[in-house]
Amino acid sequence: MEEMLILLKPDGMVRRYAGARALKSIVELGVNINFFQILKPKKEFLADRHYAEHKGKFFYDNLVNFMSATELAVIIASGDNVVEKVRTLLGKTMCEKADPLSIRGRYGTTKGINLVHASDSNETAEKEVKLWKEIINIEEKDYKKDIMAYIRTYENFPMIDSVRYREISKDLSEGKVSKEEAEKTINELLTKETDFEEETVNKLPALITENILLG
Ligand code: ADP
Ligand code: MG
Repeated sequence: MEEMLILLKPDGMVRRYAGARALKSIVELGVNINFFQILKPKKEFLADRHYAEHKGKFFYDNLVNFMSATELAVIIASGDNVVEKVRTLLGKTMCEKADPLSIRGRYGTTKGINLVHASDSNETAEKEVKLWKEIINIEEKDYKKDIMAYIRTYENFPMIDSVRYREISKDLSEGKVSKEEAEKTINELLTKETDFEEETVNKLPALITENILLG
C-alpha cells in the first residue's frame, strides 16, 4: 500500500495545540499510522537529503534553518490515495492562501511557516519514505496508540489563534512594525502556547520573520 512521510514542523511542535489538532485531523482521515516518533534529525540530513530538491531556491536556507530548530514529529502513513487525501487536507503551501478549513489555512502560523510537511506527490512519497527509513527504526508496535497519546496530551493546550500571528505578519510586510517588534510579539505568543524551554522557543521568531519577508 502507498506510504508517505508527514512531519510536524517546529511551529507545529512548539504550538502544541495547533500541532495536535493537525495530527488529529490527519488520523481522522482513517489512514494507517505505520510510524510515529519525535526526533531531531541532523541538519545535514535535512539540508542535503530531505530538502535536496529545493537547494538554491530563495527559501531554502530559511527552510533548512527553521526545520533544524527543534525536534520534529515524524510520521509514516499509508492507505489508498494517501498522498492525495493528506495533501488536500493540508491545503496550499502558503497559509494565507490555503483553504480556511484546511490544516494550513486553519492552524498554520503564517506564509511558509505552515505547521506540517507532507510528501507532495506519489514519487516524492516513495523517495522520502525510503530516505527517512535510513535514519529511523520501525518496530513491531502500535504506532496509532502513540500518536493518539500525543494528540490527547496536547489537544487542549492553551492556544493562540493563528489569526494573531497573521496580523503581525501583515503589519511586518507592510512596514507597520519593525522586525524587532514583530519578533518580540511572536515570542510572547509562542510562549503562551508552549511548554518548550525558552532557549528553543527563542530560536523561532527571527526565522519566522525572515520567512515572512522572503516575499
Ligand atoms: P509544500 O510543503 O507545500 O510541498 P514546497 O515543497 O514547494 O511546498 O516547499 C517546501 C517548503 O518551503 C514549504 O512548505 C514552505 O515551508 C517553504 N516555502 C516554499 N515556498 C515558499 C515561499 N514562497 N515563501 C516562504 N516559504 C516557502
Ligand atoms: Mg513539497
